[in-house]
Amino acid sequence: DTIVEFIAQAKNRESAMFTEAEGKSLLSAFGIDTPQGVEIEVGQELPGHLREPLVVKAISTTLVHKSDAGGVRVGVSRAELDEVALQMRGSLANFGHELDGVLVEEMVPAGHEIIVGAVRAPGLGWTVMVGLGGVLVEVFEDVAFGLAPLSETQILDMLQELRGMKVLNGARGGVKADIPALVTLISRLAGPEGLLAALPEDVVEIDLNPVIVSDTRAVAVDARFVVG
Ligand code: ADP
Ligand code: MG
Repeated sequence: DTIVEFIAQAKNRESAMFTEAEGKSLLSAFGIDTPQGVEIEVGQELPGHLREPLVVKAISTTLVHKSDAGGVRVGVSRAELDEVALQMRGSLANFGHELDGVLVEEMVPAGHEIIVGAVRAPGLGWTVMVGLGGVLVEVFEDVAFGLAPLSETQILDMLQELRGMKVLNGARGGVKADIPALVTLISRLAGPEGLLAALPEDVVEIDLNPVIVSDTRAVAVDARFVVG
């Protein structure tokens, strides 16, 4: 099936990863919200259905952290698209990566950036991690762990463990995050019928970094599936 094909292709790539678009198509198949997007070649015309502002992301078989090599541009208009893609090709080349094309996506409205990750421990199953993105996860290491399969109650308990939960609840005048949407997203990943349970042994790690949680949605805007 599709997942088996993705795994075979990933094994031929230096990164040993699914492409972002492949990963997102799987998330989508399990009901996890992802941005509308299409993969195009540099200079190719963009199909009509995507709404501005756009996000342009590098597709490259060797690049893992796209932003580090200038491989992500947000807030791009259709008119700017060709130029942005050409600049991106140049930027990636400076970092020793080849640009195979770009993933053009709709830009998701701002919200809280959450990290959801999962690592397969041989014999144990999946360890799931959730944390607040950006500075909070890096400096304060504000993360919570659980073992899949996770019930919605267990997921909510994990979120309550986070010191940054106050921020998600709209402290200091920030956006009040749609926590039920985030719980549903994590459940579709790590619940009894979730994506993790359906993945073959070859997939050893998943990162949704970030999931953007606004007051109405929780959307996985980045997806990394690592094959072992
Ligand atoms: P990287 O490979 O560098 O992690 P990401 O896909 O995570 O690349 O994009 C980097 C950042 O750009 C994200 O953390 C997020 O803030 C922003 N971003 C990416 N895609 C979108 C999107 N579709 N809508 C809004 N913001 C986005
Ligand atoms: Mg990312």
